[in-house]
Amino acid sequence: MCGIVGYTGPKEAYPILIKGLKRLEYRGYDSAGIALLNSAGLNIYKKKGKVADLEEFIIGKNTHGNTGIGHTRWATHGEPSDRNAHPHRSAGGKLAMIHNGIIENYNQLKQELLNKGYSLQSDTDTEVLLNFIEEIKNKNQCSLEEAVRIALKRVTGAYVILILDEENPDTILAARKGSPLVIGIGKGEHFLGSDASPMLEYTREVVYVNDYELAIVKPDELILKNLGNETITPFVQKLDMELAAIEKGGYQHFMLKEIHEQPHTLYDCFRGRLDAEAGLITMSGVQQYADELVHAKRIIMVGCGTSWHAALVAEYLFEELCRVPVEVEYASEFRYRNPVIRQGDIVVAISQSGETADTLVAIEKAREQGAIIFGVVNVVGSSISRITHAGAYTHAGPEIGVASTKAYTAQLSVLTMMALNIARMKNTISEENFLHLLKELQQIPEKVSWTLQHNQHIKDMAQKYKNAKDFLYLGRNLNFPTALEGALKLKEISYIHASGYPAGEMKHGPIALVDEHLPVVFIATKDKVHDKIISNMQEIKARKGRLLAVITEGDTATKEICEDTMVVPEADERVAPILNVVPLQLLAYHIGVAKGYDVDKPRNLAKSVTVE
Ligand code: GLU
Repeated sequence: MCGIVGYTGPKEAYPILIKGLKRLEYRGYDSAGIALLNSAGLNIYKKKGKVADLEEFIIGKNTHGNTGIGHTRWATHGEPSDRNAHPHRSAGGKLAMIHNGIIENYNQLKQELLNKGYSLQSDTDTEVLLNFIEEIKNKNQCSLEEAVRIALKRVTGAYVILILDEENPDTILAARKGSPLVIGIGKGEHFLGSDASPMLEYTREVVYVNDYELAIVKPDELILKNLGNETITPFVQKLDMELAAIEKGGYQHFMLKEIHEQPHTLYDCFRGRLDAEAGLITMSGVQQYADELVHAKRIIMVGCGTSWHAALVAEYLFEELCRVPVEVEYASEFRYRNPVIRQGDIVVAISQSGETADTLVAIEKAREQGAIIFGVVNVVGSSISRITHAGAYTHAGPEIGVASTKAYTAQLSVLTMMALNIARMKNTISEENFLHLLKELQQIPEKVSWTLQHNQHIKDMAQKYKNAKDFLYLGRNLNFPTALEGALKLKEISYIHASGYPAGEMKHGPIALVDEHLPVVFIATKDKVHDKIISNMQEIKARKGRLLAVITEGDTATKEICEDTMVVPEADERVAPILNVVPLQLLAYHIGVAKGYDVDKPRNLAKSVTVE
């Protein structure tokens, strides 16, 4: 959520910052702003709306400066407005700050400031923190760095902050707790970002800043310290992300590009891990904790949104294949309950960004109580990946579209491989079944590719259903999480209300919604509960609901009872969730586009939810 970018070096900062903010747009935001520092002082420009609106606003204004910071805001405190947009300027006028996150005790700090006679220009928690820092600096007559250190010890919440100071015109001061911060190291210049995308064409060398660290960033110097003022040696990593990976490559939207990338990303996800011919699955993270995984009494899967759906699929697979009890938890609930965690429990944390605030806190809590934490994360080097004991990256490449597609299918693939790997070690799967599922898994990229060839048909269907007010998605067994995911995609992208349900539950409520206007999407591929699904479909048809279904290629009987169908190749039901969701991604996408919405940036949503 929200994006931050910074630059200090010999170049003009403005173009780098604007381009960086555009790269970070996918994270979701409602306003944007920039602060530039030159010998004449600070210039701050900010606007509600898109980065393009900010750019237009800045035309003809002074953009000179070799040091600068930029921000896209996703409002938490105070409505989206020019006034509340970042950067904020301190009351003394010399400091400018941007912030990603929430200062939870801002009200208390605000009262302290108001009692001292401060008046605030915005409704944000950010401006409170900035003035709190300035107040400490003035009162203690100390350096900005020292003031930030003192202030942050009083702060609760999550933040990345970047501060400019007129008194040190080539320096950016940065600090983080709970929100991501990457520093790119160039030749006589440094770049800062919420992720590495703003700096890709300038450098491949990056440092991921950790919680409770403070960075003093100058053109040719990067000093990293902890809040105790001890210097830390920066751990420099090499980026292997390509610039093309974050560009649209001819597609109308990132979401469509990412849906179409799936045969490739799934192949990447399997590469080096799955070898059906040799009958092998090799996952180094699993090997590392093999003993703990084999003897685990229980596995808890935590995630949010789409990742939670991946966790549900995993529950079915792990219980069936590994014969271990699995619990699936919303991270946002798990963290505030008092869950029973025993020594030796395994917690699998699933997150595309690896920065999801709730998941991060949930696993910190589980770790403290003695659980082994296993991460299933897409973004390499992200916070979650760094605090887990072990893990497996999903290798889906940067996902820019806010609605997750390729990261979801990659999560499912990793979780399926994990289940197979553990089942094999536990001897809870027969050799034959194991080899069969490896083959099935290996064929998935090709089957996804086949499914994608029906894009035009699904696009035509979208025209027909785009004006529906509600949708129902139903599935049984492993197709139940797929129903949830299909409904979520539609809600996110087309703003049509959609509910996902286990088909067996429909008689306990949702069937009351059925009339001749309601499209009901069944995930009705061939599996062991197929006959049950067909009965449910008949029940909907008898009540004049509009029947749509994802069906197995060649299943004419099911096709005949439907108004429209989306076809997938035959696949074993245990790997089918990776495949069956693909037509539902396309359906949501095309309905969103047909309704004229910006599907890459759906309203109110953010790509990585870094605030709780
Ligand atoms: N809490 C701050 C605000 O509402 C920052 C939000 C963000 O992360 O963009 O302005």
